Amino acid sequence: MYQDNLAFAKEQDKLDPLASYKSQFHIPKDAEGNDWLYFTGNSLGLQPKETKAYINQELEDWANLGVEGHFEAKNPWLNYHELLTDKMAKIVGAKPIEVVVMNTLTTNLHLLMVSFYRPTKTKFKIVIESDAFPSDRYAVQSQLKFHGFSETDVIEWRPRKGEHLLRTEDLETIVREQGDAITLLLIGGVNYYTGQFLDLKRIAEIGHSKNCIVGIDLAHGAGNIQPHLHASGVDFAAWCTYKYLNSGPGSLGGVFVHEKHSKDKDLPRFAGWWNHNKETRFNMRQPFDVMEGAEGWQLSNPPILSMAAIKASLDLFDTVGMDALIEKSEKLTGYFEFLIQQISSDDIHIITPKNPKERGCQLSIQVKNADKSFHEKLTAHHIITDWREPGVIRCAPVPLYTSFEDVFRLVSVLKNLL
Ligand SMILES: *Cc1c(COP(=O)(O)O)cnc(C)c1O
Repeated sequence: MYQDNLAFAKEQDKLDPLASYKSQFHIPKDAEGNDWLYFTGNSLGLQPKETKAYINQELEDWANLGVEGHFEAKNPWLNYHELLTDKMAKIVGAKPIEVVVMNTLTTNLHLLMVSFYRPTKTKFKIVIESDAFPSDRYAVQSQLKFHGFSETDVIEWRPRKGEHLLRTEDLETIVREQGDAITLLLIGGVNYYTGQFLDLKRIAEIGHSKNCIVGIDLAHGAGNIQPHLHASGVDFAAWCTYKYLNSGPGSLGGVFVHEKHSKDKDLPRFAGWWNHNKETRFNMRQPFDVMEGAEGWQLSNPPILSMAAIKASLDLFDTVGMDALIEKSEKLTGYFEFLIQQISSDDIHIITPKNPKERGCQLSIQVKNADKSFHEKLTAHHIITDWREPGVIRCAPVPLYTSFEDVFRLVSVLKNLL
């Protein structure tokens, strides 16, 4: 159904109901004013043109109202984070009570582990993927050490020899054989390196079969795939908003705590005034009374300027809807895959799963004998991709702002370089 020519790509863009959204983003340009081909939305999403107005609104309210802005701003700051909850919950398939936007990703992983990594003398090990993102690995290792265990108490779920992708049955074996010593599974829902989208429901079942808590890092999933967090049954999840959620460098993260833990006020956790009951928060002399739901993990009053950027992005996502976005994403990445397959060379190989339901928009492409200079040649053609040692180029045709023509042009250049 796909065709390897520019006319076909242009035709697809004409038929694409989401094509117009590209013009709602700032696309980086070269010195001559030509748009770069941007394939690194998996690393830092582009800026929606509306974002500036959202941030300016808060700057103006701050200028005009000072502290009164907490109540009198157009979007009162006191409850600003609540304006993000429903839309964020839809993006990850959660109930509003299960979601909050706060802090940044690694910080949130630690705060969640305060509650959900509760080791005993015999049940204390943590399972991660062997290709876990470094920050997640460091976070887990430091939690182990903090509780008096060793870095080597991390168990790695790794691809089989000669393979790149994880097999769920191998996780099952790990948990069946060592589950009595394992207390937490902390797994990347979409692997940052291969782009593999794992079966979260299955992972939750495997973990729970041996009374392990299951946590998911969705940094590469939120806004890219639909994780159906509530239905999956995982205990908690955390993600950032600067990748597929286009909310700006270092912007705040999102947190999910499953409803089954919402009312458990006995869970150990760190406290601050922002997870204290909002009815009595400003009475100042009250004993700590934790809020229900994911809001019960907040500590501080949040940075409104960063939240304004998130609000701009979530409003855009809400207009488009995840279903429509994923429908385009599957077509666009399918086209990308098709074009790569038309290159008659054994030197190029996609390691991301072939099944569209087991991946998001990113394809990780292995180029034989290539080094970083290959990636630099792409950059010289004004194509921004992402290089990972050893020899993998990650390209994410983000459906909100990538056209079929962009993908066609990327693969034309790849073909010429090989
Ligand atoms: C991007 C990413 C991070 C980054 O963490 P920050 O705390 O936001 O710097 C962590 N984990 C994964 C899996 C990521 O993809």
